[in-house]
Amino acid sequence: MNYSQHFLVKHGSRVKLNAIDPDFKDKHETKKDALKIIERNNSWLRELQELLYAENKRSLLICLQAIDSGGKDGTIRHVLGAMNPQGCKVASFRQPTSLKRDHDFLWRAHRDVPAKGEVTIFNRSHYEDVLVVRIHDLVLKPVWSKHYDQINDFEQCLSENGTHIIKFFLHISKDEQLKRFEERLDDPTKHWKINESDYTERERWNEYMAAFEDMLSKCSTEYAPWFVIPANHKWFRDLAVSQIMVEYLEGLHMKFPPPSVDIDQICKKYHAVKKGT
Ligand code: AMP
Ligand code: MG
Repeated sequence: MNYSQHFLVKHGSRVKLNAIDPDFKDKHETKKDALKIIERNNSWLRELQELLYAENKRSLLICLQAIDSGGKDGTIRHVLGAMNPQGCKVASFRQPTSLKRDHDFLWRAHRDVPAKGEVTIFNRSHYEDVLVVRIHDLVLKPVWSKHYDQINDFEQCLSENGTHIIKFFLHISKDEQLKRFEERLDDPTKHWKINESDYTERERWNEYMAAFEDMLSKCSTEYAPWFVIPANHKWFRDLAVSQIMVEYLEGLHMKFPPPSVDIDQICKKYHAVKKGT
């Protein structure tokens, strides 16, 4: 199965999340089956990222969105953590500080976009401005409803200037979320992750799903596609994300740049130095 096609939100299509099975795991029965493939994908990913870095011609922006406990942190650890930290960074979108609030909503996203040769992962992203902001009426509808077009224009501008954009929505079920809340309660090393708002936001599950559907339907473009990843099985999520990343980066047909020096001349110098030592 070609995951880049299968999980892609086609431009202009209307997403219905309850028609997408969050338990989907393709032909893989167990985590053990998948781990080998994930490991192979991850080592490819490392090599492809090295090419991107060496080429220094373009950059890669990855956006991760999901409901609380949807698996953003785990995806970063298991898949994107495979990349070389030199040339890769994560930007997390928390509640904006007053400095950020004093600017337009895209300012903080723009500040953190990757430079040429670099990869940046947005853990949450500028899409919070059509999610939490919409659901909690943090700005009025006439304001947030314009954000979709503004985001598309922003992403198009980045794309036309050499930034490749891939966006993953991690899709879990309401039951799975409760299971993850329970696991957090049972594990003292995860207590720091628990937030009262997790439970209050859960009450707004349907509103979140409607906002996610609008985000996916209005903002999946050729230059910045959304992928909906079935994410109840963490290992399947990692498999699908790593697979799509590899397929995307391979499609760029990147090449190591030619040497900036005359290698024959350098070779001669090297041998002369070696002889002299
Ligand atoms: P976490 O990812 O668990 O650290 O939580 C970050 C919190 O910040 C989430 O509840 C987000 O919804 C919230 N957040 C992120 N961006 C914004 C924004 N633009 N306005 C309001 N809240 C936001
Ligand atoms: Mg949280």
